Amino acid sequence: MNINSPESSYDIVVVGGGMVGASFAQALSQNLGEHCPKILVVEATAPKAESSAQPSFDARSTALSFGSRKIYESMQLWEKLEQRVSAIHEIQVSDRGRFGSTQLSCDEQGVEALGYVVENTDLGEVLHEQLMASKSIAFLAPAKIEQAVPVQEGMMLDVTEGDQKFAILAGLVVLADGGRSPVCQQLGIEQFKESYKQHAIITNIAFELPHQNIAFERFTETGPLAVLPLREFDGEHRCSIVWTVGADDSEAYLQTDSAEFMSNLQASFGNRLGAITQVGEKFCYPLSLSMAKEQIRPGIVLLGNVAHTLHPVAGQGLNLALRDIEALVLTLGEAISKQQPLGSMATLQAYVEKQEFDQQKAIRFTDSLTKLFSSNNQTNVVTRKLGLLSLELIPAARKTFAEQAMGLVAR
Ligand SMILES: Cc1cc2nc3c(=O)[nH]c(=O)nc-3n(C[C@H](O)[C@H](O)[C@H](O)COP(=O)(O)OP(=O)(O)OC[C@H]3O[C@@H](n4cnc5c(N)ncnc54)[C@H](O)[C@@H]3O)c2cc1C
Repeated sequence: MNINSPESSYDIVVVGGGMVGASFAQALSQNLGEHCPKILVVEATAPKAESSAQPSFDARSTALSFGSRKIYESMQLWEKLEQRVSAIHEIQVSDRGRFGSTQLSCDEQGVEALGYVVENTDLGEVLHEQLMASKSIAFLAPAKIEQAVPVQEGMMLDVTEGDQKFAILAGLVVLADGGRSPVCQQLGIEQFKESYKQHAIITNIAFELPHQNIAFERFTETGPLAVLPLREFDGEHRCSIVWTVGADDSEAYLQTDSAEFMSNLQASFGNRLGAITQVGEKFCYPLSLSMAKEQIRPGIVLLGNVAHTLHPVAGQGLNLALRDIEALVLTLGEAISKQQPLGSMATLQAYVEKQEFDQQKAIRFTDSLTKLFSSNNQTNVVTRKLGLLSLELIPAARKTFAEQAMGLVAR
C-alpha cells in the first residue's frame, strides 16, 4: 500500500523498489503471511512516472529461468506474469563462422520450458500492482534514503520525500538500491570491481519469420550476442537483443541509422529467422563484474546488483538474486519462529552460508563464459570449440550447463 508519511520504526526497511527490492518484499509477505514483520519499501522514483524512468524497469527484457518461475509461483505472481512472457523451448549456442554449436531443448530436459522472457516494463507493472495491493507492505515513493547509521537496535535511516525529512529506525535494512549504491559507499562497504571493457547494446527487433520460442546465444567478432524471443505484437515476430561490443565502439553502434545497424546485425546473426525488418530504440549499458566485499553487517544485508553485478551473457543476474531472496526469506522465517533478532549477525550469517556456494558458482559460470566467448585469441577459440563439442557429447557437462541455465541449483 502506498503511504505518504512513514512510521518512526519498522522491522524491515527495503531500500530500493526495483526488480530485486520489490520481489523481496513480495516474497517475504507471501511466504510469512500473518507472521510477516512490519515492512517498508522506499523507492527513489515515482511509481506513476514513465516506467522507463526507473532503472530497474527500463526497455530491457529479462530471461527468467525455470527456477525463477517456481519462485514467482510461490509468491503468487506467476499467474499475472504468465500472460506477459514468451517461453523458451530451445536454446541454441553457436560460434559465428566456426565449427561448433549446441542446443538444449525443453523436451530433452523434461520441463515445460527452459525459461521465459519478460519485458522489464511488464515485470515492473506486475510487481508494483502487487506492492500497491499488499496490506502488509508499506510503500513510500518517490523518497530517498540519504544515510544509514548503525545503532544498537539496527539502523537509523535519514529519508527525504520531497522537501520533508524523516528519521526511521529499521531492525534490518535490506539494501537493494542497485550497482551504484551511495548508501553502500557511505557505510564504507567496498566493492571488488572488474570492468569487462565492453558495453551491451540492447534493443528490440522484428524478424521476417517467427522465432519458434528459440533463444540464440551467438558468439560474434565483437562479443556474445543474445537473441531472445518476445511475445508477438501486431503480427510482428519480435525478439530482444543484447549485443556485447567493445566499450570504445558502442557510441558508433548507437549512432548508426536503423538500416546500417540491421545490416550489421544480420551479418553477425545470420539468416536463421529470415530478414531483420525493424529495429527499436537502442540503449547502452557498461558491463562489469562487481561483488560487495561484505554482504552483511549487523542490521543490514545486501541484495541484487549491490551485492553482485554480473555480465548479462548468461542471463544470471536477476535469477541469482531471486534465489538469494528465497534463501533470505527462509532464514528470516526461521529467525522469527525462534524469536531471534532479524538483524543479528547469527541470523544474517545463516543466510550467507545458504547462498555462498550458489553465488560463487553463478559468478564463475558467467565470468568464464564471458571471457572465453569474448576473445578471438587462438587458444580460446580452440577451448570454445572443445567446450561446445563437450556440451554436445558429454552428458554430465550438458547436465551441468542446463541446470545452471535453468536456475536449478542445488544448495
Ligand atoms: C543488458 C542487461 C541484460 C540483462 N539480462 C538479464 C537476464 O536476461 N536475466 C537475468 O536474470 N538478469 C539479467 N540482467 C541483470 C538484471 O537486470 C539485474 O540483476 C537487476 O536489474 C538488478 O536489479 P536491482 O533491483 O538489484 O537493481 P536496480 O535495477 O538498479 O534497482 C535499484 C532501485 O533502487 C532505487 N534506489 C537507488 N538508490 C535509492 C535510494 N537511496 N533510496 C531509495 N531507492 C533507491 C532505484 O531507483 C531503483 O529502482 C541484465 C542486466 C543487463 C544490464
